[in-house]
Order: sequence, then structure tokens, then C-alpha cells
Amino acid sequence: NDHEKMKTFEELESAVRSYSRGWPAVFERAKGYKIWDTEGNEYIDFFAGAGALNYGHNDETMQEKMIEYIRHDGIIHSLDMGTTTRGAFLESFRDVILTPRNLDYKVMFPGPTGTNSVESALKIARKVTGRDTVISFTNAFHGMTIGSLSVTGNSFKRHGAGVPLHHSVSMPFDDYMEGHDTIAYLERFLEDSGSGVALPAAIILETVQGEGGINAAGMDWLKKVANLCKRWDILLIVDDVQAGCGRTGTFFSFEPAEIEPDIVCLSKSIGGIGLPMAITLIKPEYDQWGPGEHNGTFRGNNLAFLAAQEALTHWETDEFSEEIQEKGKFLRDTINRLIKTYPGLDAQARGRGLMQGIAMGKPELADEICAEAFQRGLIVETSGPKDEVVKFLPPLNIDKEGLEKGLNILEDSIKTVLG
Ligand code: PMP
Repeated sequence: NDHEKMKTFEELESAVRSYSRGWPAVFERAKGYKIWDTEGNEYIDFFAGAGALNYGHNDETMQEKMIEYIRHDGIIHSLDMGTTTRGAFLESFRDVILTPRNLDYKVMFPGPTGTNSVESALKIARKVTGRDTVISFTNAFHGMTIGSLSVTGNSFKRHGAGVPLHHSVSMPFDDYMEGHDTIAYLERFLEDSGSGVALPAAIILETVQGEGGINAAGMDWLKKVANLCKRWDILLIVDDVQAGCGRTGTFFSFEPAEIEPDIVCLSKSIGGIGLPMAITLIKPEYDQWGPGEHNGTFRGNNLAFLAAQEALTHWETDEFSEEIQEKGKFLRDTINRLIKTYPGLDAQARGRGLMQGIAMGKPELADEICAEAFQRGLIVETSGPKDEVVKFLPPLNIDKEGLEKGLNILEDSIKTVLG
């Protein structure tokens, strides 16, 4: 049977150059936190589309709304035309997300994906300030197109571009160098910009670096970066593509730091059910594009707007946020217990909310544990510069039972791998 499965997988994969992830299965159906392959094997999904499925697979209300919408000839594609569906999403986003948080942003649709949002952020920051350099951080990940890749702190990924990228300067992220004050370093660099690189247009950061290994910045560190931006008149861009939409326990990951970025990038789970969608939030004074200065074809995915609006109903009260924080604590406590129980892991716990990771002392352990977990019915992925971190991004609406079941599989996998 295993042999048959492999054959189907290889046959299907050889038809296209797909760069498929290495899971030896073809997936067919999914619901909530569960996904099934063509052999009927069930897996618990702690990967959740790399953070694009915060509300799980195939949420029933979203599904029904979409089916009804299509049946009644609702507009699917509308470029950047105003539609009732887009208008309804914008209204909910203002009323449920922005107004209660006292935030004032223009909402733009930069294109279908996270990298589109980052590109638009970098572009408007350069236009507004008239400066070209952007400061980013070690181990940052912002996307694969040339602008977003130029602020990505991963030499392997940058190598994909072949030749040098745009101007960007990488600074040490919080806790990058134990015992060193990374803020003092950044401050000195800005003060002394004449001796090196000119003052930047923007500083771009993730509050929790997802691809970079679940490195969570401290709230105090974030506040200090925001203050430096203010002092030097530099735009602060928070890339909340992965850490946003509730992943860390609040809708925006920066809320507990009480900062107000000039630009915020959102994608992945903003589309509710896993449909491509992105938005860029821009402080009104920086919304300086004229008509046609930034456009693109797929900026009006009305099915995504519909699912996105439904997703926002989770944020009408504090309940969802409290549940995420509670489950996040349970996940973190379990990770801490596993690290203690299995000293062979030589590991460290990282993360916030339901965005957690176990950084292994020996990088290869992370990969071995993920492979073993897959065989046992749990999908987890690695991240970090050496793929040394097992990362956990379960759907935010997973129940306690699902979380426990997944973590039991993880523990069994650790036991097997450590022998
Ligand atoms: N920013 C962050 C923080 C991300 O995690 C990602 C995707 N992993 C992106 C940007 C790029 O998004 P996309 O893959 O949708 O272009």
C-alpha cells in the first residue's frame, strides 16, 4: 500500500515541475484542523497553510456564504471596481478591527499575496520619504519578489536572485546577540548614518519571525524601535502577514507593544478560508499615490472578501482572543514540559500565542521529528536558518482535544527519534 501511495505521488508530481513539499502523500479533503490523503489517512494539521488557515479548513459558514454567492451570480472578479462585497468587507474591517483599536489607516488592496503587500509598503515608503534604503533584520522573511527578498535576511533565499538585490541594511533582531544591546547598535547606526548608509526610508519587521525560526521580539524592544523611527522620521512597516490575524493572540501582533506602525502588511489568513488576499494599511498622511500609480489585475477577489468579512465576526468580542491566548499557553506549557522531559533535544521554546516553536540543539533532529510525526498523522514544519526549529501554527479555532492529540503524536515522535 505504501508502495502504491508513493507511485501515485511520484506519477502526479512528475507531470509538472512543482517544487512540491516533501510529504509522501497526495491530499484530497480537509475540514477544520484535519486533512486526509487519497489513502484515507487522517492527519492533524499544525501547519495550516503556513498561517493562511487561522480559521481552519472549510469553515462551514464561509463555505455556505460562498456557495450562495456563486449561485446568485455574485461578482467573482472586479479588478479595483467598487463592489457591494468589497464595501461590506471594508465596513466590517473599519467597525470590528480599526475603530475599536483607535487606529486610523487607509486600506489598500495591493494584489493577491503577502509579497504584494510588502512590495507596496516598500514602494510607498520610498515615495513618501524620497529615500531608497530600507532597514530590515537578521532572519527576517518578507517574500520572494525582488523588493521583499531584498529585505529578507536569509542568504540561501537571496541566492535565488543570482545577483545583488536593492539597497537594504540588515540589523540584529531582538536577542540576536545574547547580552548585547541591539537597540543601542541601531541607534548608533542611525545617528552616524553619514559614515555608512544614508538615512533609510523605512524599517520593516515581523514581531515574531515565522520563517526565520519563531523569534519573538520583546514588547519593550518593539517600542524602542518605534520610538527611533519617530525620532528619525523613518516609516515603521510591520509585516503581519504571518503573525497577524490573531496568530499571536491579538488581531494585530503589535497590539501588546502599544505601537502604531505607519504601514501594516496583512495577507495569509485575512482571506478567511485560504483564498488569496492581501491588504496594506497606510496612515492617511502617507497615502500619496495618484490613480494608476499602483495597480494590478487581481485586487478584487470578491469570494475572498466574502470569506474575509465572515472571519472578522470572530473579532466582534474578546472571546476569540482570550481562547487563543489560553490555548497558546497550553501549547507553550506542553513544549516546556517536553523540553524538560527529553534533555536529548537540547532545545529551547520560542514564540507567542499559537505561533510557537522548539529550537533544537542539533538541527537535524527537527527534520527527523517532523518526518516521524507525519508517519503518525501530524503535519508540522521546520523553520529557521538551519531548519532547526519545529514550528507550530495550528488553526486558531482548534479545540483542546485536537491540540492534545497533536501534541501526543509529537511526544511519541520525539521518543522514537531519540530512541
Ligand atoms: N511576510 C511574511 C512574514 C511571511 O511569512 C510571508 C510568507 N511566508 C510573506 C511575507 C510572503 O507572503 P506570500 O508567500 O503570500 O507572498
